[in-house]
Amino acid sequence: MALKTILSSSVHKLSNLIWPPRSLLSDKRVEHQGTIEAELWSELPFIAGPICFCCGVPMEGVFHPESLCGVCMAQPPAFDKARAVLAYDDLTRPLVLALKHGGRKDGVKLFAIWMAEITPNIDDLDLIVPVPAHWTRLFARGYNQAAWLAQALSKQCAKPWRPDVLIRQRKTGSQNGLSLKGRQRNVQGAFRVKGRLDGMKILLVDDVYTTGSTLEACAKVLKRAGANQICSVSLLRVCKPKTINDIDEPILEKLNA
Ligand SMILES: [Zn+2]
Repeated sequence: MALKTILSSSVHKLSNLIWPPRSLLSDKRVEHQGTIEAELWSELPFIAGPICFCCGVPMEGVFHPESLCGVCMAQPPAFDKARAVLAYDDLTRPLVLALKHGGRKDGVKLFAIWMAEITPNIDDLDLIVPVPAHWTRLFARGYNQAAWLAQALSKQCAKPWRPDVLIRQRKTGSQNGLSLKGRQRNVQGAFRVKGRLDGMKILLVDDVYTTGSTLEACAKVLKRAGANQICSVSLLRVCKPKTINDIDEPILEKLNA
């Protein structure tokens, strides 16, 4: 065995002794970093079954794969398709909070594998773009969790990603308590695109889809810059309008931050 391999393996064993790997969902010890204990796997609310063809919200009693939900029928979104891996609930919330506010990066590889599985038209993509953070947020936090996900997904599906195409030029206030129109106004003019994207098929990546207003605002400017198709993939999705009203205000602010 090469000396480098022996050293790397020893460092790995030593670090596991000092910082034993913990589950992404609890304090339980797991064998490998960035994984989840077996008992909780079966509990995870993966979004499967009938969904809206456009926004990806789970729907009951839908039999046609291209059916649209009432919201998308009433006002067709600027994006083409949005998909998410897991439904937001008490079990999955820690995944995003640990990523966003705890800077916990060890789950990113697993999340990218999940996201690649459900990304629409993944083989035809031209570019992966993370939903950007405002520079003041980047300065304070030191990272953009959506960019971590986009980078990992880019590696997973061997498609290029760029964190500098879409820019958040204005800080947005809390979306909490706002009507759909209010949320749309809140993110209006918040984003701009650097350069042209003529004819490109873009995949937007975010950690959580709460109301879809951010994605809608991003899709509009990307299309104005010439993009031909905008799909998106998120790790979590708030699935029912009722659920969003049930989320405590401080948590909703954290999710949207
Ligand atoms: Zn829909």
